[in-house]
Amino acid sequence: MGEFELIRRHFQRAGVAQPTQVLLGVGDDCALLQPTPGHQLAVSTDMLVEGRHFLADVGPEALGHKALAVNLSDLAAMGARPLGFTLALSLPRADDAWLAGFARGLFALADAHACPLVGGDTTRGPLNLCITVFGEVTPSRALRRDAARVGDDLYVSGRTGEARLALEWLLGTPWARAAVGTMLPSDLRARLERPMPRLALGRALAGVAHAALDLSDGLAGDLGHILRASGVGAELHLAALPLAPALAALPEAERQTCLLGGGDDYELLFTAPPSARESVQAAAQASDTGVTRIGAITDQPGLRLLAADGQALRWQAVGFDHFA
Ligand code: ADP
Ligand code: MG
Repeated sequence: MGEFELIRRHFQRAGVAQPTQVLLGVGDDCALLQPTPGHQLAVSTDMLVEGRHFLADVGPEALGHKALAVNLSDLAAMGARPLGFTLALSLPRADDAWLAGFARGLFALADAHACPLVGGDTTRGPLNLCITVFGEVTPSRALRRDAARVGDDLYVSGRTGEARLALEWLLGTPWARAAVGTMLPSDLRARLERPMPRLALGRALAGVAHAALDLSDGLAGDLGHILRASGVGAELHLAALPLAPALAALPEAERQTCLLGGGDDYELLFTAPPSARESVQAAAQASDTGVTRIGAITDQPGLRLLAADGQALRWQAVGFDHFA
């Protein structure tokens, strides 16, 4: 199977209707996209490298899903609607069964969000996936990291920590094995391998929330990005964080590691003024996504973690950094 046959067989989908924003898809020198007139283009790229972002033995279908999911999550965090994506793929060999599984996971998620594959590049090399997503957002409604204001409420969608627990279990970490047991439940594994980008929530929050980002490197560290960009601080109530049943069996320190420092959550962290509380709840309901108020934005810089008794907690808030 040559390069062009590979593309034709796995990534060019004859007979699948294109959403109206795609004037020209895979096969020409460029794709042609037509955003809604007057909207702004939202663009994001994420690269997934074997051994860095996923374990070598992860199934191809889950990988196809996750490669697109982490990119769609960035659009969600901006309050954008997906228009399409490109895929740059470096593969050690043209393995038909692997490619078919990868494409299945990729297109199932793409179709669910009407976000078609419109182009890409394919080369031989170490397994490496790079997706660029294109989305659109109504002017002045984009959820930027620099838009948090003193007095805003701080919210998180869903719950954090399960992906980290699943990863530690797969790596054989003793505390994870002790808490989870000898089998990794499929719903816990799914939290790591099949994150669901919060697109409906993000769009419902556009024009309601102030600042937002998606959680990829741990809540505490990612919150720091909003605080620095906005020039504000925050207090976060640890007891307010939604706790997944799987995390309840963890010792205190490891529970905090998962809740605050666990990567790969792909939940939305956002701020909104107290006057918007009803609108936030309406957005949560309209998108069928749970949101929880977990703290507030303050003018005192930095992040203060508060325990249930109101005592300040010591916790070294370090997000994941590839070059640290
Ligand atoms: P070029 O030589 O102009 O870079 P290519 O030969 O790399 O074009 O690709 C031919 C067509 O196939 C282009 O439309 C490109 O966008 C598309 N394409 C290549 N690889 C992929 C891929 N992995 N997924 C989707 N489309 C792809
Ligand atoms: Mg090319």
